[in-house]
Amino acid sequence: MLGVLILFGEQIIKKNLKQVEVYCPVCQKKTKYTLSRTREFFTLFFVPVIPMQEIEYLAECEQCKSSMPPDFISNGCQTIFRAPYIESIVIVAAQILIDLGYYQNNIDIIHQVFEEMTGQSLDDDVLSAAIEELKNGSTGVLGSIKLKLKTINESGSLLIIQTTFKFYLGLGALNERERQIIYSIGLIFGYGYSTTEAIIDEMN
Ligand SMILES: [Zn+2]
Repeated sequence: MLGVLILFGEQIIKKNLKQVEVYCPVCQKKTKYTLSRTREFFTLFFVPVIPMQEIEYLAECEQCKSSMPPDFISNGCQTIFRAPYIESIVIVAAQILIDLGYYQNNIDIIHQVFEEMTGQSLDDDVLSAAIEELKNGSTGVLGSIKLKLKTINESGSLLIIQTTFKFYLGLGALNERERQIIYSIGLIFGYGYSTTEAIIDEMN
């Protein structure tokens, strides 16, 4: 009998599947994300021959190396709404509609201002989801923005303040209470009253 030594084992192999340009919520700009699949292989003499279980799919930013679930890139433009400053503006819009009523005219103005300020269209489903979240959640607008604070840069914070102002202005509802809300948003980002005033004035 001739002894035959068969060497078998397991090996984990990561394969890059595709690369897509999407908005990275961490970098806060368009970057390249790579979708990869990690899989375990049965090896024979160190050669991977049989694929076994899939371990994970992952989307990773080329620039900041943040990892996101795979639907992050398969979702296409939906992911745009995951930009934290955009999410904050959607939450502000939702709260304003809760406060002022879901009249078609109000909804139209919200859509119009949102588009004008962010360059993106506001999806009705995204807006409805934010309204539901505010009604059922305990965080509120200011709390929600606070939670995203670390992922919003300076230009993001300015856009949130300016868009909130434009929402109220467009709706003809810019009174003392609304100004206080804008100041409160400014305070989250460390801006005093006069700084927030200057941010608003900058638009005119
Ligand atoms: Zn990134």
